[in-house]
Amino acid sequence: MSGSLYSVFAAQAAADRSKTFIERPDGSRITYGDVDKDTARIANILSGMGVAPGDRIAIQVDKSAEALLLYLACLRLGAVYIPFNTAYTLAELRYLVADAEPRLFVCRPDRAAEMAELGIQHLRTLGVAGDGTLLEGLARAETSFADHPCANDDLAAILYTSGTTGRSKGAMLSHGNLRSNAEVLKDFWRFTADDRLLHALPIFHTHGLFVATNIVAVAGASMLFLPSFDIEEILRLLPHASVMMGVPTFYTRLLAQPGFTADVVKNIRLFISGSAPLAATTHREFEARTGHAILERYGMTETNMNTSNPYEGERLPGSVGLPLPGTSIRIADPSTGAEVPPGEVGQIEIKGPNVFKGYWRAPEKTKAEFRADGYFMSGDLGFRDDRGYVHIVGRNKDLIISGGFNVYPAEVEAVIDEIEGVAQCAVIGAPHPDFGEAVIAVVVAKPGTQLDEGGITATVAERLANYKRPKRIIIVPELPLNTMGKVQKNILRERHRTVFQG
Ligand code: AMP
Repeated sequence: MSGSLYSVFAAQAAADRSKTFIERPDGSRITYGDVDKDTARIANILSGMGVAPGDRIAIQVDKSAEALLLYLACLRLGAVYIPFNTAYTLAELRYLVADAEPRLFVCRPDRAAEMAELGIQHLRTLGVAGDGTLLEGLARAETSFADHPCANDDLAAILYTSGTTGRSKGAMLSHGNLRSNAEVLKDFWRFTADDRLLHALPIFHTHGLFVATNIVAVAGASMLFLPSFDIEEILRLLPHASVMMGVPTFYTRLLAQPGFTADVVKNIRLFISGSAPLAATTHREFEARTGHAILERYGMTETNMNTSNPYEGERLPGSVGLPLPGTSIRIADPSTGAEVPPGEVGQIEIKGPNVFKGYWRAPEKTKAEFRADGYFMSGDLGFRDDRGYVHIVGRNKDLIISGGFNVYPAEVEAVIDEIEGVAQCAVIGAPHPDFGEAVIAVVVAKPGTQLDEGGITATVAERLANYKRPKRIIIVPELPLNTMGKVQKNILRERHRTVFQG
């Protein structure tokens, strides 16, 4: 059998061409048969332009079913798909395009003039309704295509990491990486052809592009494909879905809606969260409201998914669960790589068929992030409890060292999250004349609530050792979040760099 990820889609089309793959909010559908036909057409258009196996195709467009079909057509052609975050500016794209050297760049119709200066051989446009120059010849294109026989190790995609420290790096993902992870997750989360996934995630990131879409295909299931997370639309469509995948902000936004009740989710069998930490308080509040324990999992662009709370068995609030079948997780001393005992914090290291092939054109960076025995150093710090559940305490670079003591932001954040009236908080370190670094907490209040800094300080003092307590509580209207709902701590650190000066 071909190692191509597309063979999964082809098999579903062969089994039942009329089965729905994508359903748009207006009710229009794309069946697995349509996928087979339309991706053949797109692959023919691309190869007519001279795109060959191994060529890169970069894309920066708004979410649409057609953009997803372009991804699948790349898989058939053996081309390497590179989706860029829709928020990237021209200056950022200049760097990325010089690094990736795509043969074709597909952008939004209204940005074509601006993008022309990137000097890419082929520039095409794609709008949310399938409009634009890329698909102009679609109706005339051949509906069959001889798929490139991709091997497991052939590249399917390059995803640029968010690059909060330094330049973003292109993570090279193979057909085998993506396919093996989708197969494992389908079984682990019990996906079947009867499932209907509510898909409201962006499709330039691993979560919405690979986790969601590839699992649906492996299971021969369907998805309700929303352009974005629009709360009204979500509430309207939830009763028609069986699974929702989201980032934690999806869940906090749902909980803020009085109309979000157990009745709305009566047909849902599973809520999944990932890409950022889900506060234990959100987990508990969600369960109290709906009866559903959100299943939290942990992954990253470079590794696909690594751990998950169990489908059956305890879904532990504040934990990312157990290693997925086939994936090995080691908690190791960051400097030596030696495994640390349960309960002790170390760097999370990962090995398995899900782990990427390295950074694009950066062999030195790749080498620096792998151990000699093949484990990838994630840069996340965590520990395993005595039942083997993994708990993340923060990124290595977010670790605060105050007066020589390590402070793990997640531990302090969990205490503050429990305080009445707190909607969200982020704990960071700021330069301090005595301690080197001192802890500060940036806190957002729940709507209509007045937070009292003294009250927060008093509660924290009851729960945490002195060196872990925030020396300053800063109440703000909102935290800087990226498109995946992740707090951008680098921005916060910069903003509050001088709080202890003068
Ligand atoms: P990305 O490559 O953008 O998907 O970001 C991956 C990073 O997100 C990981 O290295 C973690 O730091 C973080 N992350 C992903 N899932 C979780 C989770 N469930 N809990 C805490 N952090 C997470």
